[in-house]
Amino acid sequence: MILDKEKFKSDYVRKLMNSFAEEIEGASKLHKYFALGGLVRDYVTENWVNTNKYYLESGEKQIYYFSMEFLIGRLLGSNLLNLGIRQVCKDGLTELGISLEELEEIENDAGLGNGGLGRLAACFLDSMASSGIPGHGCGIRYRYGLFEQKIIDGYQVEVPDYWLRDGNVWEIRKENKAIEVRFGGKIRIDYINNRMTFIHEDYEPVRAVPYDTPVVAYDKNMVNTLRLWSAEPIAWEFDFNTFSRGDYVKAEAYRASVEAISQVLYPDDSNWEGKLLRLKQQYFFVSAGLQSILRSYKKSGLPINELNKHIAVHINDTHPSVAVAELMRILIDEELLSWDEAWHITTDIMAYTNHTILSEALEKWPVDMFKNLLPRIYMIIEEINRRFCEALNRKWPGQWGRINNMSIINDGLVKMAHLAIVGSHSVNGVAELHTEILKHQELSNFYQFYPEKFNNKTNGITHRRWLMKCNPKLSNLITDTIGSSWIKAPIELNSLAKYKYDPAFQNKIASIKKANKANFSNLIKNKYGIVIDPNSIFDVQVKRLHAYKRQILNVLHIMHLYNKLKENPSLDILPRTFFFGAKASPSYHLAKQTIKLINSVATKINNDSSINDKLKVVFLENYSVSLAEKIIPCADVSEQISTASKEASGTGNMKFMMNGAVTVATLDGANVEMKDAVGEDNIVIFGLKANEVISYNKYGGYSSWDVYNNDMRVNKLITQLVDGTLSHSRAEFKNIYESLLMFNDEYFVLKDFDAYAKAHERVDSLYRNNTKWNEMCIMNIAHSGVFSSDNTIKQYSKDIWGTRELKLLPEMD
Ligand SMILES: *Cc1c(COP(=O)(O)O)cnc(C)c1O
Repeated sequence: MILDKEKFKSDYVRKLMNSFAEEIEGASKLHKYFALGGLVRDYVTENWVNTNKYYLESGEKQIYYFSMEFLIGRLLGSNLLNLGIRQVCKDGLTELGISLEELEEIENDAGLGNGGLGRLAACFLDSMASSGIPGHGCGIRYRYGLFEQKIIDGYQVEVPDYWLRDGNVWEIRKENKAIEVRFGGKIRIDYINNRMTFIHEDYEPVRAVPYDTPVVAYDKNMVNTLRLWSAEPIAWEFDFNTFSRGDYVKAEAYRASVEAISQVLYPDDSNWEGKLLRLKQQYFFVSAGLQSILRSYKKSGLPINELNKHIAVHINDTHPSVAVAELMRILIDEELLSWDEAWHITTDIMAYTNHTILSEALEKWPVDMFKNLLPRIYMIIEEINRRFCEALNRKWPGQWGRINNMSIINDGLVKMAHLAIVGSHSVNGVAELHTEILKHQELSNFYQFYPEKFNNKTNGITHRRWLMKCNPKLSNLITDTIGSSWIKAPIELNSLAKYKYDPAFQNKIASIKKANKANFSNLIKNKYGIVIDPNSIFDVQVKRLHAYKRQILNVLHIMHLYNKLKENPSLDILPRTFFFGAKASPSYHLAKQTIKLINSVATKINNDSSINDKLKVVFLENYSVSLAEKIIPCADVSEQISTASKEASGTGNMKFMMNGAVTVATLDGANVEMKDAVGEDNIVIFGLKANEVISYNKYGGYSSWDVYNNDMRVNKLITQLVDGTLSHSRAEFKNIYESLLMFNDEYFVLKDFDAYAKAHERVDSLYRNNTKWNEMCIMNIAHSGVFSSDNTIKQYSKDIWGTRELKLLPEMD
């Protein structure tokens, strides 16, 4: 948008006055932030209203991205960026004596996700809007986001994340768009006009109230919508009847059970408690979302049997897969379509992304629980499954083992992944390797039955947040060097490759990295009191804490470097600072122990003056989107060291690459494609391959005891875990010790140790050659454009959704 500085200043002063009855002098930072956010939202609203009007009137196909998680982080900076008014606002605020950066720090992260899956959904929203695709998000407005992590005495302590405490300037509550969602009760079958009719009785109603957040396109007059649902009791009718019987307790219990639905995001996407509540959450937002889509579709006057021409729904992982049955319910019970018509429309609308092969993350619900909570939905799933199993039996007559294995309902369990596959026209993995593993291992039966459904869509990240916003210096250097067309077409970053050998450009790249590191070092000194050398190699592993991501491999290697330095204090290794950032699921014991281990190692190393500051270890508290935006632009080395075959894609890896870090990687997830893009000289690959891991898992042949007995470095490290070196209590790290030895090292940490240590020796020697290192950084940035989520989203749009990329909205009157 076009905005004049003087106009901005007067708008801002007025907004502050109107919102808080305050002048700039005397206003708190919080109020200053809210006035700015409110003003930016005001700037957006006209386009937002016009966009919605256009979508409704034109019948343009819209895609709704259903996800339990949207890890959006902060919106002020990215909205200013996408509107193209960041500089003018910054200048205007400076003249008013206000620092924009300081106000940006006031905003609470919207931490409505655990990690990569939720962040992907957020990147997709940004890319859909910025590519002109009519696409919206649908999820839950959790009152509490992912917990806030405090580190106390080296241990993770979880604090509730009440992110809405100060209010949320971006959302608008849409009271008039509320929807009723029904749980429990029973189904009575009746014949009305000769049609078998299913009547839901004695159910518990829940009121779903939408909160809409604008999703602002970059340099376009479009504004899409993220709609998050909040669960509330149905106000008077239900309560009143209960109260009139004098049963306050029951009314309160009802209120509490309803409010619980949107109370809190489940920590961790792979193991959890409170299954019933989780299922309630899923049906709650799916039902509310689909009902509201249908309601607005019908307002447009288009015929119901063309729904699939105008609407697409994407199921992000299995969490929203009950959408298949819910849409069938709406089409059959409410719109009175036949089963076959409804099925054709539903499968044409639905598409499903698989995010993991970790079996504990494949959702299964006990039949009894499912049936009681969602009786009609269960009936529909039974019928879908009956027809599916018949079709299987036609293709593979009598192969009962295989048919049982593929059945949606089996062994007293409802298998949500199977429902999603059967009910969607597209099933995609999130990196080439991952999709191949799905096709040929995890879902091979389904692939044989539905080969045409399977496809790959490698994940991506929005280069607007993960380069332009978080690393403005680098972004400006790129534009100064190759022009600005890369912003709209990130693949054009590859023009930077020409400057690979240009000493002046190399120096600029290096000095930007150095400036970022120096800034961050100050921040670390202020927050943790740890003094780090900005000239040391910044070696970073930030991601959820999970055994498969192998933070343990990293920390064992740091202990090994420390052991070597203790043996030989004059050992010639370059100074390194290792950074970790990771939250552990509160119930995931081994993960929490790993955090304590990292902190114990950090304490030991950081306080040992005999190693001459050659090593420092920093555990960054409360890893989140806004912290990621600070650390990633400082990284020299990116640690992407998951056990091959276990990481579906990874997106952290792409963020680091785009900011010019060199990756130490296993050939896992999208690392494989990163290697292909950047060339093997510009990435440090090590370790077992996916097929080797799969083969060990199938046929055996690995014993961690052998490594322990034959490699004396490993032997010493393992011993140090339990001999009092790191902790007064020898039991402190017992689980880690046992997982590596007694349980035969499920994630091949010891097996890969030697290769990993050698990989780091390579890093050390590459870094010594400044020129070579800078070349590598440049090549990484230059080849990161394919990993922009703009590319990813265009493929989804074209291959799966059938949506169009609109250039600009026509002017509306
Ligand atoms: C990108 C991102 C992730 C995903 O990181 P991976 O390394 O791919 O696991 C997790 N959390 C946050 C806050 C992120 O920004």
